[in-house]
Amino acid sequence: MTDFGFTPGAVLPNGLGRTGVIHTPHGDIRTPAFIAVGTKATVKAVLPESVAGVGAQAVLANAYHLYLQPGSDLVDEAGGLGAFMNWPGPTFTDSGGFQVMSLGVGFKKVLAMDTAGLADDDVIAPGKNRLAHVDDEGVTFTSHLNGDQHRFTPEVSMRIQHQLGADIMFAFDECTTLMNTRVYQERSLERTQAWAVRCLAAHSELTAERADKPYQALFGVVQGAQYEDLRRKAARDLAELEVDGRRFDGFGIGGALEKENLGTIVGWVAEELPFDKPRHLLGISEPDDFFAAIAAGADTFDCVMPSRVARNAAIYTADGRYNVNTAAHRRSFVPLEEGCDCYTCAHYTRAYLHHLFKAKEMLAATLATIHNERFTVRLVDNIRASIEDGRFDEFRDAYLGRFYARRR
Ligand SMILES: [Zn+2]
Repeated sequence: MTDFGFTPGAVLPNGLGRTGVIHTPHGDIRTPAFIAVGTKATVKAVLPESVAGVGAQAVLANAYHLYLQPGSDLVDEAGGLGAFMNWPGPTFTDSGGFQVMSLGVGFKKVLAMDTAGLADDDVIAPGKNRLAHVDDEGVTFTSHLNGDQHRFTPEVSMRIQHQLGADIMFAFDECTTLMNTRVYQERSLERTQAWAVRCLAAHSELTAERADKPYQALFGVVQGAQYEDLRRKAARDLAELEVDGRRFDGFGIGGALEKENLGTIVGWVAEELPFDKPRHLLGISEPDDFFAAIAAGADTFDCVMPSRVARNAAIYTADGRYNVNTAAHRRSFVPLEEGCDCYTCAHYTRAYLHHLFKAKEMLAATLATIHNERFTVRLVDNIRASIEDGRFDEFRDAYLGRFYARRR
């Protein structure tokens, strides 16, 4: 049958935060879990063996990028994303919606949106210099690679994601920003709900058409920005939605979230969603965000940040973040982080990494990425253990107290 499911485990006293296991055709994911980002079917600078070595249980790739290059039909021919990139474990793809709608707008996939310079609904409205134009049917956009015009609709996104073959896919949704008005957010939610219906219908057809392939789960994406009534309604509507006898297998929590409201918003959504389906939160990576989101009921996370900042010499440790390319580390013959169990810390020193970054050697990115990915995966794993052991609050207070004690 579907070969997909979620088994909840230990639950926090608030009834929202929990551990669990997501079952996929390519293996189980113990949650909460941090999912490594491999945007273009590679976690930048590291071998798939190293991604497994840091303890990552799954990889998330990007439908928009793979559609443009090398083409989702080619990935399909290769046997799907996992086979193509030599990653035998579970895989996710996002719908491409975020990427196409943020083209030319200048907002990034991080919690604290930089809204400076953006003005109200114009940011995703039609305009001469916009690379993306949203209408009720879908999104027309210009390729960032060669300027060609393309069009994504719910049906196109579902076909691309079926061709990419990931275990977990996301419904095509409209991504709004914090700068959109309340009226626009309401209209946008109606559009996202209508697209969710079309995604489920297309998913149903494609699943039947490709019955020889492993089952691919589809997650609906809850939008609604910072408005409690909109978030709750969106979550309820998606949870109840049924097309051709098929419902969403899980849910993504997307869109504009301000850091200080993160836990509150995830909590609203989690209260409305069925307890026995997994919830993915898009784009967080800071330790305080993990604790807040997990306490509020999020199960899986993805973010490019640990590997992106690694390539700029920023190193995460239990005592906060530092830059290994500063002069202080030139003769520092100690690991990136004392006590870290990663491959880089077992074999190399800060002084060596400092040298590699100064000399602009490619190995710098590889070694720093291994450490930061391990740091992030281990943190989320330790949070999971603290829930199982009934000491989540103590672990959070001790961890965050130390991490933010001294900022470098
Ligand atoms: Zn390390």
